[in-house]
Amino acid sequence: MRQLRPLPSSVELAPTLAQRVAQLRDLRNMTQMDVARRTRFSRQRIEDIESGIETWLSSTDRQLLAKALCVEPVLLQEVETQTVLRPPDNLASQDIAKSILLGIHPIACPNCDSLLTCSIQAGFGLEGEPIKFPKAFCAHCPFVLR
Ligand SMILES: [Zn+2]
Repeated sequence: MRQLRPLPSSVELAPTLAQRVAQLRDLRNMTQMDVARRTRFSRQRIEDIESGIETWLSSTDRQLLAKALCVEPVLLQEVETQTVLRPPDNLASQDIAKSILLGIHPIACPNCDSLLTCSIQAGFGLEGEPIKFPKAFCAHCPFVLR
C-alpha cells in the first residue's frame, strides 16, 4: 500500500492545479510517465493537466492522481476550477448544429469562444432513414453538443 508522505514544511504549494501537479510531481521525483503509469492516465493527459488544459478532475480521477502523488485529494481539489456552464442555450446549440450540417466552420464555443471540434455522424432514424447527427465539443471547457 502506498502511503501519504508528508510534504517538506518549507514548501509553498502552487496556486493552480496545473502548477501544483507539476510541483508535487517534482517533489516526488517523478516524470510525467511515472505519474501516467501510476494513475493509468495517458501521458498526454498528465501533460494537459500540467499545462492547464484540464482544470478540474472527477472525484475518481482526483483520487487516482492524488494517490499517485502521495497527497490528500483535497490538495488537488482546492485549486481546481470548474467552468460554470451557462444555462443551456438551445438557440445557440441549434445554430451550431445547423452550421455544422452546412459545413460552416470554424465555429466558436458559446461558453468560452475557443474553436469547437466538429463532426457529422451518420446514423439511421426510426424508419431506417439515414440521418446526420452534428457533433461538437470544446477542448477548453466542458461544452458538448450532442
Ligand atoms: Zn468552450
